[in-house]
Amino acid sequence: MTMMGVNVRQRFESRVRQDSVFRIRISDVIRNKRDGEQLSIEEIEFFVEGVVSGVIQEAQLGAMLMAMFIRGLDFDETTSLTRAMTHSGEVLRWPSEWKGRVVDKHSTGGVGDKVSLVLAPALAACGMKVPMVSGRGLGHTGGTLDKLEAIPGFTVDQSHEAMLRILTDVGCCIVGQTSNLVPADKIMYATRDVTSTTENIGLITSSIISKKVAESLDVLVLDVKIGRGAFLKTEKEARELAIRMVKAGNGSGVKTVALMTDMDTPIGLMIGNSLEVAESIQCLKGNGPKDLTDLTVKLGGQILYRAEICETIDEADEMVRKTLEDGSALKKFCAMCKAQGVEPAKADSLCLNGKGFDLLPKSKYQTELKSPKSGFVVDIDPMKCAIVSGKLGAGRTKAGEAINYAVGLQLKTTVGEKIEKESTWAVVHHDEAELGEFLIILNGAIVIGDSVPNSKASRVLEVIT
Ligand code: URA
Repeated sequence: MTMMGVNVRQRFESRVRQDSVFRIRISDVIRNKRDGEQLSIEEIEFFVEGVVSGVIQEAQLGAMLMAMFIRGLDFDETTSLTRAMTHSGEVLRWPSEWKGRVVDKHSTGGVGDKVSLVLAPALAACGMKVPMVSGRGLGHTGGTLDKLEAIPGFTVDQSHEAMLRILTDVGCCIVGQTSNLVPADKIMYATRDVTSTTENIGLITSSIISKKVAESLDVLVLDVKIGRGAFLKTEKEARELAIRMVKAGNGSGVKTVALMTDMDTPIGLMIGNSLEVAESIQCLKGNGPKDLTDLTVKLGGQILYRAEICETIDEADEMVRKTLEDGSALKKFCAMCKAQGVEPAKADSLCLNGKGFDLLPKSKYQTELKSPKSGFVVDIDPMKCAIVSGKLGAGRTKAGEAINYAVGLQLKTTVGEKIEKESTWAVVHHDEAELGEFLIILNGAIVIGDSVPNSKASRVLEVIT
């Protein structure tokens, strides 16, 4: 694999020499944005190169991000920022014979969202190459990398050479961001975090899409969540983000499609790292909860259709579904675990022989929650479930904090199902003996009514291309 080498400081210094002829100065660029002017491609490139080379001072970076946050970035500025960030570090390169088949997905994050663990191997089983660069969780529950690290031996730190080897042998890998992949985002994200400039559509778009474009993808599917358990709370904001990300992805040469999906109830039945690995394996065996299976199939189907592997969406959906039913996706997951450091006998035991869940960390206590009455489950609040799971230790509140893989919540029912008084609706997996206020929060998370609520056929609400 060849990587695009960059010497950002040299490039920046030559740019400063060149730009001094035209008298571009960072303070002028900040003022232009502060005053609501549209930034030119040159100004944006000048800014990003200055961020990575370290020439721009922290105060200037904070001021620029705040100006961008308050004034907003239009479509053109977002696309220019995405391009400049993508090329701020290495861009992964793949063998030419993979052209058209290098694919990935990104989710804006939800409660119980373990789709990546199922989708990457399912797509590999369809002949795709999936170099999934994923993240850790900041917030109530762990991210994809945290979930995978619940499997003893699973190693998410992989070099680009290792990724190439795993993609050649297996077809998918799920890894952490290396230090030189989009370094501009690392610096900007850390500053956004401490300057209250995270929730901005243009900045979020360029942060997410630059990392995906740096993977040199042919096709990208975005899962943009709407609802109480979503990162952006209003439908308007989520739609705007989806449209903007699709445009920035396509504008950077990656065929990009977004699915707007419902995040008003937890995805599947498990929340927490080990628990979500176990549920993913069930799904890879064709026995997953209907909503998780459907979401995986629909996201994967969009990829296969856009990659022109299938002529219709239905055919593409069916191709993904079949990999879950015939065991081929499970075999890819098992091979990925082995390639990423899990002892082969343990990977086989986890995936293939049915007793494998013993390998995953288990909590000291399991407490059953009982239904207060008979009826139909009308609602399960994802945020209440996520907050308790996070407080039990399944998530982290600041970068670098340790995570407890064993704890979380196992739902025994879902919205629309009939439930009897005193039957178990959830099991809390915990390491501290006392649950205290968590019981009050959780008992307020479920609503039981007298009639069957309107059920949603699919979590997918809209496709944006
Ligand atoms: N995830 C990212 O990678 N960047 C953002 O800005 C928000 C979510």
